[in-house]
Order: sequence, then C-alpha cells, then structure tokens
Amino acid sequence: MRVAPIRFFSRPPTPGLVDRFGRRQSYMRISVTDRCNMRCDYCRPSAGDWRSEARERLLSFEEIARIARVATELGVTKIRLTGGEPLVRRDLPRLVGMLVGLGRIRDLAMTTNGALLARHARALADAGLMRVNVSLDSLNSLRFQRLTGGELSGVLRGIEAARRVGLEPIKINCVLMRGVNDDEAPALMDFAAREGLTLRFIELMPMKRGLDWNRRYLGIDQLLRRDEVRMRLAGKRPLAGSQDVARYWAMRNGGMVGFITPMSARFCEGCNRLRLTADGGLRSCLPADGQLNLRDLLRGGCTDDEIRAVFLRAALIKPEIGIYEFDAGAEKRSMIQIGG
Ligand code: SAM
Repeated sequence: MRVAPIRFFSRPPTPGLVDRFGRRQSYMRISVTDRCNMRCDYCRPSAGDWRSEARERLLSFEEIARIARVATELGVTKIRLTGGEPLVRRDLPRLVGMLVGLGRIRDLAMTTNGALLARHARALADAGLMRVNVSLDSLNSLRFQRLTGGELSGVLRGIEAARRVGLEPIKINCVLMRGVNDDEAPALMDFAAREGLTLRFIELMPMKRGLDWNRRYLGIDQLLRRDEVRMRLAGKRPLAGSQDVARYWAMRNGGMVGFITPMSARFCEGCNRLRLTADGGLRSCLPADGQLNLRDLLRGGCTDDEIRAVFLRAALIKPEIGIYEFDAGAEKRSMIQIGG
C-alpha cells in the first residue's frame, strides 16, 4: 500500500490574531507621520510636552509595508493610513501602491484633515486608495482657523476633489465640544445631507493633559436630546446592522449621521483594531499605555517570525476594556503621536 507523503509546512496554519477575549484583530491603523499641518489643541500636546520624532526614527515605507505584509498574513484585511497628517508625508501614493501590492487588503482608507487632499486625491486614487475620512470641526472659516490654524476653503476643496476621483464613501469626522463648536451640529448635519456625505460626531477623549476635558466634553446622549438635532433624524432609532464603531441614523434630508461614543458607551466589546505608530510602536488599545517596539526589531535584522510574534503578543496583552486616564502626565501619548 502506498502511503501519502507527509507534507511539512514551514509553520502551522495560523488561526489569525485573536485576543484573550475572542476578538479577531483584522484592522490596522498605520500612522505614517507624527507631523501635522494643523494645530488642533485637543490632539497635539502643549508646547514643551513634546517634539515630533526625528525623521530617521520614523518607519520607512519599506518597513511599513513589511509589517503590513506580516499583518495581512495574520488576517488583517483593513488598513487605514493616518497621522499626524498623512498627507504631509512625501510621496504617500507610493506607500499606497506598496500596500495594494500585498494583495490581501479589502479596505484601504485614509483619515486626513483634507488641507492637502485637493492636490493629492488623484494620485492616491490612482495608486489604489479606496476612500477617505476627512476631519472637519467647523463650517465657519474664522472659527476653523482659530481651532485648527488651517483654512476651511482648502478642506472643502479637498472633499470635492476626493469625490471627483471616487474616494468614496467620504466620511466627515467632527469632534463636538461644548461651548466650542457644539452650536454647529445642525449646520454640519445639513451640510452632510446636502453634499451626500456621511457625518460622524465623536466624543472628545482626554488624550492629553491640560485639555480642560471636563468643561468641553459633550456626551452624545446629551447631543441627542437637543431638539435641533432630533428633528433632523429620520425615525426614532439608529439604523440596524452597522459594522462600524458609530451608531448611524438616517437624516430627514438625506445622508447619514453617526455617533461615536468612546467615553459614554465604549465599544471595546467588538474592538478589532491594532495601531502602528509612525515610530514603529505596535499598540492594541488606544488609551492603554505601552507599545511593542517593531522599529528596533526590524532594524536589528529580525525575521518575519519575530514580527509575527510581536503581533501575537500585542493581541495577547490587549485589555478587555480601554480606560482613559484623566490626569495623565506629559509622557502619555496623545492622538497626534499615536495616530488617530
Ligand atoms: N490629521 C488627520 C486628521 O485630522 O484627520 C489624521 C489624524 S487625527 C489624529 C485623526 C482624528 O483624531 C481626527 O478626526 C481628530 O479629530 C481625532 N482626535 C484627535 N484628538 C482627539 C481627542 N482628544 N478626542 C477625540 N478625537 C480626537
């Protein structure tokens, strides 16, 4: 009798990246830079608390692509490029092309402040980027200037350019803050409905010290109690079946509005996210301290198996629930450093 030869695999088939609580890690947010061309004060640490990393400490595109390849082999199918502002990193379409070339990514998106989007939208789409989220905290150009240091008209042109080249669906992210821009919720909803965009309101997270979070925080539950918001929603309940972190409602005038509640109703239960910081740190929880250093490992000449082991460890140490520290010190990483 002939016995079928035993086949040896270089490694056992991997069950993918599943954490201790059964959550499959399939989504990686990659920060390509910790620099930004805007100055949103809730995102950037106060002067004196932080300086952006020296360029040579940031991952090269080749290093990012190698890490992403290992991640996709472990089951990551969705990648979002972020920062800092991803579009201040020169030649970003080249990285997009490298990621597309991995062949396993089903959703390749970018979060941007939109200021440089009009200039780069075509090249990004041609390279294979699928869609963009654009941050927009105000539709009033003076206020926008004051909050971000940027120009509203450029962002609106960026959104238009993204639409022209098909980087859709376009989602607009807005951090609503009490006494800062919460009066603009109705105008932002009307804007999104008119322009056929998906708007998402996000609760302010205490990501840096000196943020005055207590005064500025506006819970989504409070927002939803406002007449001028409620009257713009169609129906009494959110839409069922969304895969996103947001709870979406249809709007009366068209389009959708989503509410993201990291503070008032955590969504850790279904968290499938990993984050790669621009300087090569792998994190499995946004607020939790501690990240695993991939950059030094790569630069020390590691094997793919060693990178794989770091991913498995990141999944292993992912906490069940992410807890925000309200009195975090200067050493705590803020959004611009982690990648939002
Ligand atoms: N520069 C890009 C942008 O503006 O979209 C990408 C990076 S930015 C860090 C990503 C998102 O994080 C933005 O939508 C920003 O509003 C959000 N963000 C930053 N700090 C935050 C905070 N403390 N609370 C809630 N959202 C925050």
